[in-house]
Amino acid sequence: MTSAGLATGPAEALWAAATAAITDAVRADAQVLLVCHVNPDGDALGSMLGFALGLRQLGVSRMQAVFPGELVIPPPFQGMPGLDLLVTEEAATADPDLLVCFDAASISRLGSLASRLTTAATSIVLDHHASNPGFGTVPLIDPRAAATSVVAAQLLDRLGVRLDAAMAECLYIALVTDTGSFKFSLTTPAVHELAGRLVATGLDPGEISQRVLDSRPFGAVKLFGEVISRAELEPAAAGGAGLVWTYATLADLTKYDQQPYVMEALIETVRGTAEADVACVFKQIGEREWSVSLRSKGARDVSAVAVALGGGGHRLAAGYTGAGELTEVLATLRTALQ
Ligand code: MN
Repeated sequence: MTSAGLATGPAEALWAAATAAITDAVRADAQVLLVCHVNPDGDALGSMLGFALGLRQLGVSRMQAVFPGELVIPPPFQGMPGLDLLVTEEAATADPDLLVCFDAASISRLGSLASRLTTAATSIVLDHHASNPGFGTVPLIDPRAAATSVVAAQLLDRLGVRLDAAMAECLYIALVTDTGSFKFSLTTPAVHELAGRLVATGLDPGEISQRVLDSRPFGAVKLFGEVISRAELEPAAAGGAGLVWTYATLADLTKYDQQPYVMEALIETVRGTAEADVACVFKQIGEREWSVSLRSKGARDVSAVAVALGGGGHRLAAGYTGAGELTEVLATLRTALQ
């Protein structure tokens, strides 16, 4: 991607190619496959399902939505509209006419479904990760967008889709997830304008926030207490900007009878540490495998660090998968941050 592309978002020709591909798909009654990244978050699921409901309004009838891995919807998202469109990885069509990807910073985030990038005649990629290398035949990647749902809403507008409450709920969940409830720095006037249009369809933002963001099992609350109490502050780390980190193991999940998704919210508490620019949570996903979440207050570009360690993300929020004992994964991160 050129620096001009980064400054201005997707080129007009790409928007035109995307709208033409979708218009053609409607006309030809094409088989459409929508895919989002592994372990989908609110933006991945919300942008995909909101867009799917928009395609349904346009008349797309042969459509599946899918993500890699087991078809298990994390409890916060179990009331999301459009879930009926989801199929298992095994049931996803092998050679769709049109593929549309959501919120995947790299091809690897699509798991085994990445094969559809080669079998599909056309693949539109909607994303907002600065580290996205620009894959697919029509890459619509806007690193200035606060969420992939912002890109999805722009494309729905260009297609003439009229936002309804079901679509809006999906896109709104995506927007609140990726903006940290309108707190993060990419929360532009355009983000608030989009949120205004979404809420105007009749959404209840308080109910949605409580259901999706602010509700967790009591066992998770106890788990958080234990994990937060073992946090470490290293003021000299990250070139003197400071690092705060903690970890959660599979044994912690077992002890409190919790599912892995509950660990996603841990970083929000850890990153509040005033003395550290960089915050990190190591979440164990295998015997010697850790999903690492990184946040920065601005002094450090954690996307660059994550990319160097095989992951990706944004300047202030990124992640990667680390292999080895926790002490080894931590040492590697310390070195990368210096
Ligand atoms: Mn996102």
